[in-house]
Amino acid sequence: MNYHSLNNKANIVSFQEAVIQGLASDRGLFFPEKITPLPPSFFENIENLSHEEIAFQVIKQFVGDEIPEAELKHIIAETLSFDFPLVEIEDNVFSLELFHGPTMAFKDVGARFMSRCLAYFNRGKNVKNTVLVATSGDTGGAVASGFLGVKGVDVIILYPSGKVSDIQERQLTTLGQNITALEVDGVFDDCQDMVKKAFLDADLKSKNLTSANSINIARWLPQMFYFFFAYKELKKYNKPLIASCPSGNFGNICAGILAKKLGLPLDHFVASTNANDTVPRFLEKGIYEPRPSIATISNAMDVGNPSNFIRIQEMYNNDLKAFEHDFSSIGFSDEETLFEMKNIFTNTGYIAEPHGAVGYLGLKHELQNHHNAIGFFLETAHPIKFLDVVEPTLGIKLPIPKQIEGVLRKEKISIKIKNYDDLKNILLHS
Ligand SMILES: *Cc1c(COP(=O)(O)O)cnc(C)c1O
Repeated sequence: MNYHSLNNKANIVSFQEAVIQGLASDRGLFFPEKITPLPPSFFENIENLSHEEIAFQVIKQFVGDEIPEAELKHIIAETLSFDFPLVEIEDNVFSLELFHGPTMAFKDVGARFMSRCLAYFNRGKNVKNTVLVATSGDTGGAVASGFLGVKGVDVIILYPSGKVSDIQERQLTTLGQNITALEVDGVFDDCQDMVKKAFLDADLKSKNLTSANSINIARWLPQMFYFFFAYKELKKYNKPLIASCPSGNFGNICAGILAKKLGLPLDHFVASTNANDTVPRFLEKGIYEPRPSIATISNAMDVGNPSNFIRIQEMYNNDLKAFEHDFSSIGFSDEETLFEMKNIFTNTGYIAEPHGAVGYLGLKHELQNHHNAIGFFLETAHPIKFLDVVEPTLGIKLPIPKQIEGVLRKEKISIKIKNYDDLKNILLHS
């Protein structure tokens, strides 16, 4: 399968090159040249397929013949080696729990898939890739864990100092080996800007830099699986389906829309945001006006200029009307989120962390507009990752899951940086 840059459709690369480059040389995001819907028989039979079988059918056209079938199946099996429960928390409202992986964040799936693709492409070669990633919270930990010990790959993670939770910080600063954490004096957008700049810096060409943010297709595409897994469970209700994604960089929701392009019968998507509401404002006013990110309690979504939004626009040929039919976006304040976390817990006993609660709010809002529909929201992180918000808000004490226990005992190691020159120096001397 080939991919073109969204800045220039003549700039075409293979799957392998797109994964290795991350971002196209003209700064564009890569996008599949062709999207072929899955056959009706796939959807007729989906409830009889395992998660691994579903994932293989979904992803194979995007990989093409660049990874042999048996190898791709093996990569998928390793990627999906945990559960994805769909929990009905009240009538017509389901939580798709994406936090049962090694770092308890949904980003585990994309990070594990990407690291294994890269390891496959590097097999038997004496090359070294450097994965450079900016994180607003969960990406860092998932990438660190997904790439830990992968041969031929160094990982450098930039995170905004003081703006990620204690557990998130430990997950990305305590692993050692091929993982280095850079603590940036700034906000997430500063980290992301530095990463983008490094990719285009001619002096760093020999460093084989690649991204592991959802701009990288190997991180982004596997996120389609979630929507198919939810459909597998919800098909039997035979009702219109709404999916709500707590959205930051809009990778997840963009993958959901791609799943719809493959024929997945979801009726409507809600991109639920926090106060970083660039997309809700765009839908209201028709003008795309990114703003610097604002710190919120759902910090993994503190993104002022969502990278993947351009991919969504591409899928709708920039036709706002068609787009609005399938898609809406709504932002919620921290107060609303905290209020709803309490509400959900009191009424249903379900513990939602701030991102999930934002997803829930968006879903409930949209359900009012769709008669007879049911829906699910993505619960993108385990509550323990936001315990400093969850525990006082709900007045409970969360037991520490075994995945987290390990990192709490380890010591944080990070390098503080202030600007792009600091980053460049580190890259040049790594
Ligand atoms: C990354 C993240 C999000 C946002 O996902 P996008 O694909 O960037 O929109 C939501 N919740 C959590 C917990 C995350 O880590």
